[in-house]
Amino acid sequence: MRKYIIAGNWKMNLTLEEGYGLASEIKWMVADEVNNKAEVVLIPPYLHLSGIQNLLKDSNIKTGAQNCHHKNKGAYTGEISPAMLANMGVTYVIIGHSERRQYNGETNEQLAEKINAALENGLTPIYCFGETLWERESNLELTITESQVREGLFHLTEEQIKKVVLAYEPVWAIGTGKTATSNQAQEIHAFIRSVLTEKYTKAAAESISILYGGSMKPENAKELLSCADIDGGLIGGAALESRSFVEIIKSI
Ligand code: PEP
Repeated sequence: MRKYIIAGNWKMNLTLEEGYGLASEIKWMVADEVNNKAEVVLIPPYLHLSGIQNLLKDSNIKTGAQNCHHKNKGAYTGEISPAMLANMGVTYVIIGHSERRQYNGETNEQLAEKINAALENGLTPIYCFGETLWERESNLELTITESQVREGLFHLTEEQIKKVVLAYEPVWAIGTGKTATSNQAQEIHAFIRSVLTEKYTKAAAESISILYGGSMKPENAKELLSCADIDGGLIGGAALESRSFVEIIKSI
């Protein structure tokens, strides 16, 4: 049985005080849902992680980081290592969000190194992939998503890939209010699962959670999350407000 995961990526939003407020509200509101429906993950900015980790310690809500370096330590000013995250008790780390691919020039090859570093430290990577608007309009969505998954992940063994969570995030749907239709999302999710089956085994491919991300909100979550190959959501905007985030969890 695959695990549903609902992860809120706060990006570079909220002061520490606002972050504590949001995390406290969510902790209070999702007590039952956490156990029954999904693994809930909060992914605040690095600065807030330690405090929020502490605030959530008597709950089942997990934390994640938005990025990490591929080395455990060294002269890399401004970076945060996967070893530091693991030592703090962080569970997940987003690798290859399209904003980092776009604004920080992160390549599939670099992301493959980050995936290794995260796994070596016992973190669960959430590996993001997805096509741009131009790529979709050029009918390249299958080619692009397959190459991102192959180049970022296919050096892993079967045991390792089973520890990775994938997130299909069409770039044209992130923060734009445009959501992929459930058919469009399901098509890519099923396609990527078939690519995973071809490279590994059906059992491995069936065990891997593939999340959808891109303007998921309470109004469209139910339809998206009811698709056979969509195993949860990576939520940006709607995760900044406790009610909309919790409504998404409740729609599973
Ligand atoms: C994201 O940042 O991963 C995301 C899906 O953002 P939004 O929900 O705002 O589109």
